[in-house]
Amino acid sequence: MACIFCQIVSGEVASEIMYRDDEVVAFRDIEARAPTHILIVPRKHVSSLAEVADEGLIGRMVKVAKELAKQEGIAERGYRLVINCGRDGGQVISHLHMHLLGGRHLSANMG
Ligand code: 5GP
Ligand code: ZN
Repeated sequence: MACIFCQIVSGEVASEIMYRDDEVVAFRDIEARAPTHILIVPRKHVSSLAEVADEGLIGRMVKVAKELAKQEGIAERGYRLVINCGRDGGQVISHLHMHLLGGRHLSANMG
């Protein structure tokens, strides 16, 4: 089955790419819920956090998110990193991704 994030990683589907290296790609969320809303994903298809075999990958994604927060000018005021996992976690796209949200005050309500 075609995976939209795999298609974005390969360039088959266009998106605003913010960062790429041999392991991780970051692009703007198509339905931004904050002035900065970027998704950080592994190049390799991993369906969810539950399927991650090497947690070092998550560390690399966090590192990219922190760098992007600086680039976006939101590092000082603060931001939020979110990984939704599974149905109850609100995961809609079955390709692991981390949300970087910032640029406005985010409610403490975790939904
Ligand atoms: P989830 O709820 O799975 O954690 O988040 C999926 C996110 O992917 C949503 O915030 C949604 O707006 C975003 N998204 C879905 N389809 C596309 C797309 O085709 N391009 C981009 N850039 N973002 C997408
Ligand atoms: Zn995928």
